Amino acid sequence: MTHQKAVIIGGGLGGLSAAIRLASQSYSVTLIDKNKEPGGKLHKVQIGNHMFDFGPNTITMPHVFTNVLSDAGLNPDDYFTFERLDSHTKNVFSDGSSLMFHADETKMKTELAKWDPESASRYPVYLKEVRKLYHLANSHFFHRTFSSWTDYLSLPLTLGTMRARPLETMDHFHRKFFKDERIVAAFNRYATYIGSSPYQTPATFGLIGHLEMEQGVFYAKGGNHTIADGLTQAAKDLGVEIRTDTEISSSSLSGGALTAVHSTDGEQFNGDVFILNGDLLTQADRIIHGNPGKKVNRTEPSVSAFVIMAAVDTRFDLHHHHVFFGKDPKAEFEAIFQHQTYSEDPTIYICTSSKSDPEISPDGDNLFILVNAPPLQKDGTLAEPPDITEARIFQRLKDKGIDIAPHLIDKKVVSPADIHSRFHAFRGALYGIASNRHQDTFLRPFNRSKEVSNLYFAGGSTHPGGGSPMVVLSGKNVADLIKKEHPSS
Ligand SMILES: Cc1cc2nc3c(=O)[nH]c(=O)nc-3n(C[C@H](O)[C@H](O)[C@H](O)COP(=O)(O)OP(=O)(O)OC[C@H]3O[C@@H](n4cnc5c(N)ncnc54)[C@H](O)[C@@H]3O)c2cc1C
Repeated sequence: MTHQKAVIIGGGLGGLSAAIRLASQSYSVTLIDKNKEPGGKLHKVQIGNHMFDFGPNTITMPHVFTNVLSDAGLNPDDYFTFERLDSHTKNVFSDGSSLMFHADETKMKTELAKWDPESASRYPVYLKEVRKLYHLANSHFFHRTFSSWTDYLSLPLTLGTMRARPLETMDHFHRKFFKDERIVAAFNRYATYIGSSPYQTPATFGLIGHLEMEQGVFYAKGGNHTIADGLTQAAKDLGVEIRTDTEISSSSLSGGALTAVHSTDGEQFNGDVFILNGDLLTQADRIIHGNPGKKVNRTEPSVSAFVIMAAVDTRFDLHHHHVFFGKDPKAEFEAIFQHQTYSEDPTIYICTSSKSDPEISPDGDNLFILVNAPPLQKDGTLAEPPDITEARIFQRLKDKGIDIAPHLIDKKVVSPADIHSRFHAFRGALYGIASNRHQDTFLRPFNRSKEVSNLYFAGGSTHPGGGSPMVVLSGKNVADLIKKEHPSS
């Protein structure tokens, strides 16, 4: 056994998680990111006195984040703390009616019974089913890497996959428990958490219902970006060398293995093992071969997002997580996934973390307004000019009683083109490949390069998938694979 040097390209949550695990187990680690600070899609945006979290607003599975630190011998409380939001999401429909999502079975049954006693009585069965889906995924998918096709050929995995309802759609699954269209729409929105459509994505992802409705929705005190800041600090405390403002664009290979990667400024980073945490669809071939590769043309990107962060001088009547549904959610999914365009009446999600944490935005609310957006076209253009999307969102919110313009202090708009350029995200997609087809769900790109023996992949574009807890698990799983294949003393 020799001492090993690991080089991690990308300081997103997946890269940070891998860095901490390797550094705590006698690897020398250098983590490199092209942006000014690590954290990737999870980062702080400050507009005057208003603070926003870009990226993950809805945090589930907090134990995944704290385990990264405790497994490395650190005390998670020294880095960030979570607060559980019991009544977490207010769903408002086009007729003005609303449904509150509670992570409490009794309260939730009362809420459902307002509209549909049958849905209320089926709710415990729904919870049992989604719990089962979660435990299947947790046993077979979340805690392992996939490095070759033979990894798929185990009997327990095949049986687990078949029991995870891969051939049923999420919409079909939800309709077995809920009859009211508004209730179905509220649960179907979970498909967007993995960048997909409930009419195509497998029922497997119904497991998100277990995370939100039983385990709960969480917020990191001081802002979710404190998770990224805490992981960065923990990495530094363990001796990880962090290099920001440094973009990797090429590499040196010898005998089918990487020996070094090179930055656009010509700096060389030597290593024994390498992890790519940046989007592997755009970066793997670029770094290995110096071109974007052919795979990207055959791949369906997940959904993107159009975000407006609005600093306002008032407190609106909004919940921490608030969703305004459009008139026809099914037509909206068709617009995005079949026609690659926006709905005229989009579902609008607003995260106002100042409702739980007023100190982060003392002079008025911090509205993080998001609509699901088609990814960039193949030629790299947007589906429509950003000012049209922005005007539509402000108009629809005004129609619903949230008139932002008179209270607007300042704003920052982020389109799919910005997501693409800031993170090198494949066509601006939030979660790499869409999980619309069951083969894309279960057969995501491997965690180890097929052509370069010491290059591994961690993050939203590989196993186990997108979403902040999944990418953190991906970093941990890849670090464990490296420990087996390139042990360090
Ligand atoms: C608007 C939005 C809302 C979201 N909402 C939620 C939510 O509510 N809940 C949830 O769980 N998740 C949410 N997500 C998803 C979540 O943010 C991501 O899944 C997660 O943060 C991605 O982490 P990652 O490790 O895959 O890498 P990323 O965050 O993509 O980080 C990769 C890093 O690699 C860097 N990089 C890329 N190429 C290079 C290179 N060549 N050289 C150097 N550096 C490079 C990039 O700049 C980036 O910093 C949301 C994402 C967005 C954008």
